[in-house]
Amino acid sequence: MSQTLSATLSTTSESPATANATAQPPIIGHIINGQPHTESEHFSKVFNPATGQVTGHLALATTETVAAAIAAAQAAAPSWRATGLAKRAAVMFKLHEIITSRRDELALIISKEQGKVLSDAQGEITRGLENVEFCAGLVHHMKGEYLEQAAQGLDVHQIRQPLGVVACITPFNFPAMVPLWMITTAIAAGNTVILKPSEKDPSAVNWIVEAFHEAGLPAGVLNLVHGDKTAVQTLIDDPRVQAISFVGSTPIARAIYTQATAQGKRVQALGGAKNHMVVMPDADLDAAADAAISAGFGAAGERCMAISVVVPVGDIADELIAKISERMAKLTIGAGTDPTSEMGPVITAEAKTRIEGLIDGATADGATVVVDGRVLELPAAGFFVGPTLIDNVVPGMAVYDEEIFGPVLSVARVSSFDEAVALINNCQFANGTAVFTRDGRTAREFEYAIEVGMVGINVAIPVPIGAFSFGGWKDSLFGDTHIYGPESFNFYTRRKVVTSRWPQPEESQINLGFPTN
Ligand code: NAD
Repeated sequence: MSQTLSATLSTTSESPATANATAQPPIIGHIINGQPHTESEHFSKVFNPATGQVTGHLALATTETVAAAIAAAQAAAPSWRATGLAKRAAVMFKLHEIITSRRDELALIISKEQGKVLSDAQGEITRGLENVEFCAGLVHHMKGEYLEQAAQGLDVHQIRQPLGVVACITPFNFPAMVPLWMITTAIAAGNTVILKPSEKDPSAVNWIVEAFHEAGLPAGVLNLVHGDKTAVQTLIDDPRVQAISFVGSTPIARAIYTQATAQGKRVQALGGAKNHMVVMPDADLDAAADAAISAGFGAAGERCMAISVVVPVGDIADELIAKISERMAKLTIGAGTDPTSEMGPVITAEAKTRIEGLIDGATADGATVVVDGRVLELPAAGFFVGPTLIDNVVPGMAVYDEEIFGPVLSVARVSSFDEAVALINNCQFANGTAVFTRDGRTAREFEYAIEVGMVGINVAIPVPIGAFSFGGWKDSLFGDTHIYGPESFNFYTRRKVVTSRWPQPEESQINLGFPTN
């Protein structure tokens, strides 16, 4: 089911004249070679999803704009590569200080454009900072290996060198954390970067790129272009771009991976998810219900590690559903910027329509809507979807087969542990999963048998800490390396192996045989 890049972006393009006529919301522009660029032929609207109001007009890069950013990155590459590692690390330390001291400012920007509640935006910033911390130790991560006396008088060493110009393409749901996963490691490893973030909530990255420059990053090392598929296609097609990191939906991840690898580029493309949470009969059902609520409805379900399907094993389903329903009734839904809100809106009006359509379809397919978010009293303006719980969901229903990416929890009942494992292993997505049990052997068997990249044992959202790397399997990741942490340093560097000998003149001889030890 491969899809080409002609799949449409949900942007509302308009002419600059129209954009300037509605001059109130600011124009959000690119940052190329350290300089702002707001001119464009096309703009898209940026909304506050909690109010539905337009809050900005985003300049969409033309091919020429992207080419200018690539040229700036190419020009900056030799001197950034030659910059001492201690100086690169100093940028990371300073960046950490800037983000930490002004994190409330960044959290507000995220909440206003993405919709998530402020505490969740703070959590996103913390997880992004984890990677800045990891990258501050770049002298360790960039270290090579040395083997003395591999043969008589012969030594071998391996060094890591940057790739050159790399591109990073990021999704809407983590407008700060995912860019910080990519650009920070790429820069720490000595590359120069073109960042193309989501067009839906672009302001957080403008803030982050400015923070990088304030932290001492030279102009041209990190270039920001906003845009749609034209920008992405230009990055794929330009031979100066050596590698592409992508995080987004599976069809786009697959298309970018296919096209960019065909052009010889190194690619890591992380896609969508459908994360199952297995609840064994011996589990603490109150703890499991709390976890299902937190992981299912946090960030309105717009997390690639959100729990989407609860899988009760045996006869606990009714009791577990009752406990989840009770807790759902108590959730406070409202603007993310309101400190009393626990769940905000979804990202766009289109997303709301799509999610509600999947709930409609579930009923038609024979599932049981236990808690119906469509009939809940919600803020009148904005793109709110009420938390929804659907029972008796099975594969083959669209609500199971598709990634919902909204506040909808499905319940897929199974009779045994083996049935739960088979259900998960048959799913095309394999980002994260969890098992809730009090039995160590069950947990161990789950960990052993499950075909998913990130596994939680009584942990519903098992996002690895920064010293590990993050990545799913199957249609949740195209490519070989996971993102951030140690694997990212592998992705953003090439290894070179040097074999050296320093013979005395009298040791020289002709030998046409293949060198052996
Ligand atoms: P998306 O695929 O729509 O967009 C991601 C990026 O691709 C954006 O920068 C967007 O501008 C660009 N893009 C969109 N359509 C394009 C096209 N036709 N051609 C070229 N580029 C295009 O994803 P999204 O809606 O922004 O983010 C949500 C998705 O991201 C979900 O599927 C979610 O599971 C996934 N996600 C995955 C992870 C992970 O680690 N696996 C993490 C976060 C989000």
